[in-house]
Amino acid sequence: MFATLSDRLADTFKNLRGKGRLSEADIDATAREIRIALLEADVALPVVKEFVAAVKERARGEEVSQALNPAQQVVKIVNEELVTILGGETRRLRYAKTGPTVIMLAGLQGAGKTTLAAKLALWLKEQGRTPLLVAADLQRPNAVNQLQVNGERAGVPVFAPEPGNGVGDPVAVARASIDEAKRTLHDTVIVDTAGRLGVDAEMMKQAADIRDAVQPDEILFVVDAMIGQDAVTTAQAFLDGVGYDGVVLTKLDGDARGGAALSIASITGKPVMFASAGEKLTDFDLFHPDRMASRILD
Ligand code: GDP
Repeated sequence: MFATLSDRLADTFKNLRGKGRLSEADIDATAREIRIALLEADVALPVVKEFVAAVKERARGEEVSQALNPAQQVVKIVNEELVTILGGETRRLRYAKTGPTVIMLAGLQGAGKTTLAAKLALWLKEQGRTPLLVAADLQRPNAVNQLQVNGERAGVPVFAPEPGNGVGDPVAVARASIDEAKRTLHDTVIVDTAGRLGVDAEMMKQAADIRDAVQPDEILFVVDAMIGQDAVTTAQAFLDGVGYDGVVLTKLDGDARGGAALSIASITGKPVMFASAGEKLTDFDLFHPDRMASRILD
């Protein structure tokens, strides 16, 4: 569908072999191609502008190397800059030194939190940990049941309010889950929280109250990569309203080209930690900045 950035730059640089340094006109032409590639990948405009300026700066300073042609050299610069913005190295979970590690999930309804909770639980189990899933999403009538079904598929127990106990208080459930984890010797607690269809003050307050009650070691913001530019607004709202340590991108099996990852990482300064790419519980892994950089450029 799209020409890759390297193909495009190869066209731009057709006659440049053997030049010692790229001219200002070459660099402008390059900048245009990079700009188009990033916009097509759905990267937010302010991020594109800043990024292109940084790449131009580097391209100006660099001699054309003997080993690479100019197109390859620019692609290398772009790739390195993308990887840096996406967090460089894969950022791993930090576990509590004593007591259960508490991981709290936050995000809009439909982002994929409940599915992700079970994926993360299975992944942790495979790493030799003993997770406990906590149903603190009491907003959506079916959320508790959905977590229980997914928990069963993952072979991970779910802590949930007793049925028939009225509406239930998600903060109390979350708080009680930590004692339950200590009592039943679970070393990791994954708290699924309620989202709404849009950013909403009440939802933010509930998430902040749960945060204060359970004092998470990691708060993960879960976001649907398919929502493109809206992801940035949502990411910022959750950063201001709840705060988080890392981002999980879901639905990467769709045709999203990864612009959301770059925009969120660049604007919030928070690393993308996990990627979820399908409805199966095993469609989940650590996020690899270098692989995402290639996806954005291809
Ligand atoms: P929540 O409201 O944030 O808890 O979201 P859910 O976990 O209920 O997910 C919403 C919908 O997205 C469900 O139909 C999931 O099956 C689907 N879903 C979640 N993660 C993925 C994913 O990585 N890829 C795809 N294709 N669908 C997903």
